[in-house]
Amino acid sequence: MIKNFDIAVVGSGAAGIAAAVAAGRAGCSTVLLDQKSGPGGTGGFSGLTTLCGLYDDEGNMLNNGFTQEFAESLRESDPLKMGHVWVLPYRPARFREAAQQMLAATNNVRAQWNARVTDVQTESNRINCLNGFKVRAVIDCTGTAEVARAVHAECLATDENTQAPAHLFPLHNVKRDLTTTAAAAQVMLPLARAGFPPLSFQPSLEADVAMIKFTGSAEQIPLLIDFLRRNVSGFEHCATPTTQFIPANRAGRMIVGEYLLTGADVLGARKFPDVVARCAWPVEQWNPEGKVQLRYLPQHEHYDIPARCLRAAAISNLFMAGKTISADVDAIASARVMGCCLATGAAAGKLAAEWLHSSDKE
Ligand SMILES: Cc1cc2nc3c(=O)[nH]c(=O)nc-3n(C[C@H](O)[C@H](O)[C@H](O)COP(=O)(O)OP(=O)(O)OC[C@H]3O[C@@H](n4cnc5c(N)ncnc54)[C@H](O)[C@@H]3O)c2cc1C
Repeated sequence: MIKNFDIAVVGSGAAGIAAAVAAGRAGCSTVLLDQKSGPGGTGGFSGLTTLCGLYDDEGNMLNNGFTQEFAESLRESDPLKMGHVWVLPYRPARFREAAQQMLAATNNVRAQWNARVTDVQTESNRINCLNGFKVRAVIDCTGTAEVARAVHAECLATDENTQAPAHLFPLHNVKRDLTTTAAAAQVMLPLARAGFPPLSFQPSLEADVAMIKFTGSAEQIPLLIDFLRRNVSGFEHCATPTTQFIPANRAGRMIVGEYLLTGADVLGARKFPDVVARCAWPVEQWNPEGKVQLRYLPQHEHYDIPARCLRAAAISNLFMAGKTISADVDAIASARVMGCCLATGAAAGKLAAEWLHSSDKE
């Protein structure tokens, strides 16, 4: 028997979790699909430990509603100021657990894991079926616009020259303070002198754990760990992680919507009448050598993301959130951080529900 749903949300990272909960809370029967075995996406599975994009440069939360609720449920320590920006340290296991709990507590949402999106069918400019389900609206939260690609909707892509992938992994049993820039620099300097590609340390909520973001290759990681053990005090007894080293992908694909958010909008802190989410994160680009370039908004400012960036231009019932919103490569280099993905996800869930309610009245 074919099952009918009001809304299909594809992808269950920060954006998809928020979109499914918002759609369910708005009374829409919702199916959430992900190729992985559970919710979390990059935020839950890659080893990240800092939620960026939640705050302005004074530490004020930029988006309320689901974004704030989810951040509160992750919160085990105060937000941290890192240079000009504020981040919320979190544990990836807690991210996955909070997502599971919120989805389970939401009426109308059914999740399907280990389900790659397939068999997307359209009729008169609308998606009416995917994975054997009849659907009335779809929210693409795959990060790489897999639904849009299946229906040949116009997309833009970032690439690894400005959004280079990185390895994220923990080193246990590290007896050294890495919490300040100066303390981390004392470890990074000998590594750079030895010719290793750049790495950085993420704040960790676990004692004696150094969380590492490394832009080099998987083959270089055992050499890096060996170098740290031999040459840097506090790392003598650090344990080699048992997990496979798989790089996390920053690059994604954006679906062209009714409006394309630009880098100039971001850096000019532009405001829109149809605002649905706000962000103040800098434009953050990483080259393949591991060098980061950060371009900041004016002091104390944020930019708006309009509803039009969450509605596909070509397919009338396709919405998007997270890394797939309608944005150019500079704008998404800011808007891809998880705080912003949560906000656009929640907004896309609500927009899709409102669109369905208004088409019911017609
Ligand atoms: C190296 C690196 C460091 C980063 N550092 C930070 C940081 O410190 N803080 C921060 O806030 N952000 C950081 N980010 C950015 C952030 O993690 C991502 O941009 C954000 O998590 C994207 O969320 P999303 O929900 O749009 O997509 P994702 O989290 O990527 O979720 C997409 C989901 O879609 C599913 N999916 C994909 N294709 C299919 C398909 N065909 N069928 C079914 N399901 C599918 C995937 O399994 C996945 O679960 C970093 C990213 C990287 C790669």
